[in-house]
Amino acid sequence: MKIEKDKVVTVHYTGTFPNSDEIFDSSKDREPMEFLVGHNNMIMGFEQELLGAQKGEKRDFTLIPEQAYGHRNEDAIQEMPKDQFPPDLEVGMMFQAQSDQGPMQFSINEILEETVKIDFNHPMAGKTLQFSVDVISIRDATEEEILHGHSHGANGHQH
Ligand code: ZN
Repeated sequence: MKIEKDKVVTVHYTGTFPNSDEIFDSSKDREPMEFLVGHNNMIMGFEQELLGAQKGEKRDFTLIPEQAYGHRNEDAIQEMPKDQFPPDLEVGMMFQAQSDQGPMQFSINEILEETVKIDFNHPMAGKTLQFSVDVISIRDATEEEILHGHSHGANGHQH
């Protein structure tokens, strides 16, 4: 069985930045990551690079921003009054805002005299990412999983 649309796949992965040993994320110290292929559960390039892989296969690949979290959008930086934030505010702190589309994360971009510049860009936007992926298992998705557009885990109840 190969990785393709409507398969549920589990993988172990390690993500690093190019020309650096810095690991930004890894599943190695937890359960392997499970996802339904072809339903926008993963960044596009991650799935594309794994298509056709078989159980036990290892793949290493590099994703440019277009294949990963996109480019930074300067319009996603907004200004808010400083008094809406705690006094110990620092650049780089993460917060969550409620929006019509659900919770949205933002980071503190710059602290000015009266206002704060906040950044809604994904923290990985604009970055090239390297992944090393081990394919642990591949199975057919259930009809319910395909209908829902996500995997339900080994026990069939995860959401
Ligand atoms: Zn579901």
